[in-house]
Amino acid sequence: MNRIDCDVVILGSGLGGSLLAMVLHRLGRRVVMMDRCVHPRFTIGESSTPIADMLLARVCRRYALPEIAPLAAYGATRRAHPELSIGLKRGFSYFGHTPGQAFQVHPDHRNELLVAASTNAETADSHWLRRDIDAFLAQQARSMGVDLIENMQVRRITKTSRWTIQGQSGHQEVECHCRFVVDATGPAGTLLAALGIAKQPDGLKTHSRSLYAHFEGVTSWDELLETWGAGRQDHPYPCDRAALHHVLDQAWMWQLTFDSGVMSAGFVISGPAASRPHPPDAKGAWDSFLSTYPSLKQQFLDARIVAPAAGVVATDRLQYLAERAAGEGWICLPLSAGFIDPLHSTGIAHTFSVVWRLAHLFESQWNTPAWSSSILALGEAMRAEIRFLDRLVAGCYRTMPDFSAFSAFSMLYFVAAIRFESRLGTAGLEGMDDQFLCADDALVKGMVSRVEEEVRQLQASGFSRDPIRRFVNRVREAIRPLNSVGLMDANTRNMYHHTAPVDKLRIG
Ligand SMILES: Cc1cc2nc3c(=O)[nH]c(=O)nc-3n(C[C@H](O)[C@H](O)[C@H](O)COP(=O)(O)OP(=O)(O)OC[C@H]3O[C@@H](n4cnc5c(N)ncnc54)[C@H](O)[C@@H]3O)c2cc1C
Repeated sequence: MNRIDCDVVILGSGLGGSLLAMVLHRLGRRVVMMDRCVHPRFTIGESSTPIADMLLARVCRRYALPEIAPLAAYGATRRAHPELSIGLKRGFSYFGHTPGQAFQVHPDHRNELLVAASTNAETADSHWLRRDIDAFLAQQARSMGVDLIENMQVRRITKTSRWTIQGQSGHQEVECHCRFVVDATGPAGTLLAALGIAKQPDGLKTHSRSLYAHFEGVTSWDELLETWGAGRQDHPYPCDRAALHHVLDQAWMWQLTFDSGVMSAGFVISGPAASRPHPPDAKGAWDSFLSTYPSLKQQFLDARIVAPAAGVVATDRLQYLAERAAGEGWICLPLSAGFIDPLHSTGIAHTFSVVWRLAHLFESQWNTPAWSSSILALGEAMRAEIRFLDRLVAGCYRTMPDFSAFSAFSMLYFVAAIRFESRLGTAGLEGMDDQFLCADDALVKGMVSRVEEEVRQLQASGFSRDPIRRFVNRVREAIRPLNSVGLMDANTRNMYHHTAPVDKLRIG
């Protein structure tokens, strides 16, 4: 029997759990992490963003984690950790498709949207092969002195004055006593399940499920555009050195290309197809989606799956939200508390934003009377942020029938992200009160409500030409008070060369 006594148990050693474990260790807490898997292991969710990088840089600076700090920029990661598999992410690229038709090339880029998040590769964001990054972070935590128990089957979690966590790792029984538990187990929500706290999709507007895998041999989209004679000279960056989104009929596909040539690709499916039963043959469902879009089919002609070993993963509905995300002596990280959709890659940034706020609480309020209420407040903030993300994503799905309407609605995400980046830039190493993506900012909330009403009118009009033009103009008007970087300026023709309001690595 392995009996352990500690301050904090973190269930789950994904990127959120490991980063938090290192911070708490630096703050002098005795931390134990437990994971049901053994690193390295396959996991999904690989695209970083300026907000994720800014938060990571701040956490690393404040809590003295110099080995991790290079991950906040592509160039620094390449130099410091060439052994890690990453990919260059210069921004967000979107291409609109029509079912049954090849991708239409237009000189005015009317079915393209490229939003640069950096001006060069050195300071760019990255795609992170999570197998490598998570194993690296877990190993760093271990080498600092954090106990990591892998292959751990948690059987029982009980609480009296302290928590008791019982389980088994290999042949060894484990019993751990601690004061505080963090649920960083992602969708499994292991602690929530033990506490009987329900996770429901009820009330969430987004309804999607996903098919995904990692591939080799996929033809680069940039190369295909070249063969079709598309004008790429005004693209702010090679369009597939980015989080590339193919916008489809009530669905979209992500493509994240690693420097090794491996591509993480996935369909996210909404509308009636999302409510149909789980496909018995995930690869068949994948192929049937590809067949509907001839240009994507062309892109994947020579592709083969390299991970996971079992082939294409088919998920059930992605959305859930826990009834509570924190309580007396415990809290969730965001992926345990709820999830909406991979659109715009908000997951890792949200996780780091909670790690950042939680770190400040451990630093300033552990062992103080304010602790419990602050933890509860952070849990409620997290839930509000997930509901806000739901609104930003659901509107994108509702406008997918027309690419210009979709692009216009997507601007709400960029406006909120840019405002949050500015706030982070001025907050420096001190904490900040803003919710993730300024979900609690009256101006931001007002903008979203106003545009949601416009979406209802657009849907009622059946997406005809004049209402679409009117919708786009009204979104332009709605974002105007917050639009600090010239989004929706007609002269840009959907090509944004510079949207960063601050240097993401300038701290303090
Ligand atoms: C389809 C999809 C695509 C996504 N794409 C992106 C993207 O491009 N960009 C982005 O920012 N975000 C993306 N996300 C979200 C992203 O995956 C999460 O934000 C991120 O993984 C959160 O990290 P985490 O460490 O909290 O959880 P996870 O990475 O899920 O780690 C959870 C850990 O808990 C362990 N665990 C599970 N059950 C137990 C148990 N019972 N006991 C002990 N350990 C357990 C697991 O083994 C794992 O190691 C995506 C999500 C999905 C579903």
